Amino acid sequence: MTGLLLPLEQAPAVAFDVALLDLDGVVYRGPTAVPHAPEAIAAARASGLGAMYVTNNANRPPSTVADHLTEIGVPAAPEDVTTAAQAAAGLVAAEHPRGTRVLVVGGTGLRQAVEAEGLVVVDSADDEPAVVVQGFAPDVGWTQLTEALLAINAGAEHIASNLDATLPMERGVAIGNGSLVAAVVNATGRAPRSTGKPQPAIFQQAAARAGAQRPIVVGDRLDTDLEGARAAGYPGMHVLTGVDLGGALLTCVPAQRPTQLAHDLRGLLEPHPAVEPDGDWWRCREAAARFDHDTGSVIVRRGAADLVLADDVEIDLDELRAACVAAWAAADDAGRPTLLAARPQIRVRPPAEDVGAIA
Ligand SMILES: [Mg+2]
Repeated sequence: MTGLLLPLEQAPAVAFDVALLDLDGVVYRGPTAVPHAPEAIAAARASGLGAMYVTNNANRPPSTVADHLTEIGVPAAPEDVTTAAQAAAGLVAAEHPRGTRVLVVGGTGLRQAVEAEGLVVVDSADDEPAVVVQGFAPDVGWTQLTEALLAINAGAEHIASNLDATLPMERGVAIGNGSLVAAVVNATGRAPRSTGKPQPAIFQQAAARAGAQRPIVVGDRLDTDLEGARAAGYPGMHVLTGVDLGGALLTCVPAQRPTQLAHDLRGLLEPHPAVEPDGDWWRCREAAARFDHDTGSVIVRRGAADLVLADDVEIDLDELRAACVAAWAAADDAGRPTLLAARPQIRVRPPAEDVGAIA
């Protein structure tokens, strides 16, 4: 794959066999569905695309995640969900025989995932676990962290379900698993292995569980979903319904770049246009953009009055595609992460149509 956007002549729902879908910011936001997500997933599934939901949440078991999806209008079964807990347990099972003792620091989802692999969950370093597996749960505290430290100091390996420093909450961000892992690492001095996004293991395990031959990752975070997709060697469609929006995309480094851009999950149902060079410009259908080296900004072609991408400027999706490739190609040519002087907070106009037939 090149580091730029790739065209798809057929809709992803037809071109791929399984979508590995992130949840928060892609399918739902907390208790409610992301607009158009249930209808788009239903239409994509009707055309033959499988759906596997992939989450770094290691606390909630797959059955709880599936129940929540079903409640918001996205019918799902537990086997349609891959959690970071399962990815961590899967790694332990791949390297250790059944019956291996594992100290679990975390919640129900992690305990169940470890037990499902035929491993034995223990709670004390005195049980001489071979591995410490650590995932988020709100009640993880000093007692569990100290058992982890004692076990690791006695020779156990330390594996983290994910290293997300924070968790989104309605009141702001909360302490995430990575920050609790950091407490242990501060005491051991040794970094753990991690299996959650952006590590490729969780996507590779999800693809294997779904029997996917041609998977596509769909996510809203460049530093987890899309970086993980690149690491796994899978195409990645980025949607604009979650964390990372237009400005973050323009400055995106090669290891985190998506291969397709969509406003929301309706992007599974349509072909994706090519972005091609045209002199100094990059053209996407009727849209065009170029990088301006004098100002360190991206300019979108708008006839007589070309538009400099700055805070609060609104563009459409083809203009964003052209603008991203213009910014990325200029950075690649210079061998730099980005040449943009600022990260403009641009807005991207959503398409007006409801979910329609697959194009
Ligand atoms: Mg997300």
